[in-house]
Amino acid sequence: MFEAIESKFLVPYDGNFSLDNISARPPSSFDPKTDYRKKINKVIEELQDLQKILYAYDRHSMLLIFQAMDAAGKDSTIRAVMSGVNPAGCQVFSFKKPSSIELDHDFLWRTNKSLPERGRIGIFNRSYYEEVLVVRVHPKILEYQNLPDKVNPECIWQERYESIQDLEKHLARNGTVILKFWLNVSKEEQKNRFIGRIDTQEKQWKWSSSDLKEREHWDDYMQAYEDALNATSKPWAPWYAIPADDKPYMRYSVAKIVEKTLESLDLKYPKIDDAERKSLSQARKQLLAE
Ligand code: ATP
Ligand code: MG
Repeated sequence: MFEAIESKFLVPYDGNFSLDNISARPPSSFDPKTDYRKKINKVIEELQDLQKILYAYDRHSMLLIFQAMDAAGKDSTIRAVMSGVNPAGCQVFSFKKPSSIELDHDFLWRTNKSLPERGRIGIFNRSYYEEVLVVRVHPKILEYQNLPDKVNPECIWQERYESIQDLEKHLARNGTVILKFWLNVSKEEQKNRFIGRIDTQEKQWKWSSSDLKEREHWDDYMQAYEDALNATSKPWAPWYAIPADDKPYMRYSVAKIVEKTLESLDLKYPKIDDAERKSLSQARKQLLAE
């Protein structure tokens, strides 16, 4: 028996996650003959039904956070996973460099405004995790953040992990089901995809020279990811490190984890009581009598 996807890619909660032990390539259980594009369609159908019950049940919301290096496939994964879900029941927010208004608030403010309501699935394409990733790789950004005290480089990242842990714990206690996906693309595959963008006319618009600049900091990013995932993978807000070099397998894995998590919530359509049942049958009679 192969280990289930949701435990295979789970970042352990004990702080022992190491990039040395994981791969951007699919695991040995990956079957090259399996059509993962086809397989995902079944999962997407399930997600559609589960989301309907999530909405009717109205007790939980779901927050999916996506973080990755450029060209890992965040956009296409989000598109694929949510393709069957009723648009009224889900929302996607992308977080780029903060605006001056956003910088006038604490670093969790802008994402807090975009959290999903009960019954809905909310997706963050990048998130407050940028504050311990890109900002850590480029600590100069801190100078523009209008922070009150002189930043202590020894403590700042630890303090931010704590703020994130506190927020996520609070959200989870109040019904938000949080899943976090790091789409782990290899440096080699990123290079191939960048070259593909440059060489393909319809993809050239996606190319940005800043992507090449960030690539120069690859090792620093990897260290920042390893530390952030170790500090913040918790039972109430787990991280999954998803191999991203094979896109269909990556999308399938993410969809499957979302499906399994929704299933585990034991969602139910609200029960109708006797008085409501009576009122329904009266309404039925009235309609038939028209
Ligand atoms: P795509 O390239 O597919 O359009 P993207 O998410 O890479 O998607 P970009 O506009 O290319 O979008 O990049 C957004 C940039 O904003 C990233 O480099 C990211 O690190 C940066 N960013 C996001 N949040 C913050 C933040 N809080 N502080 C500083 N930079 C941030
Ligand atoms: Mg980009």
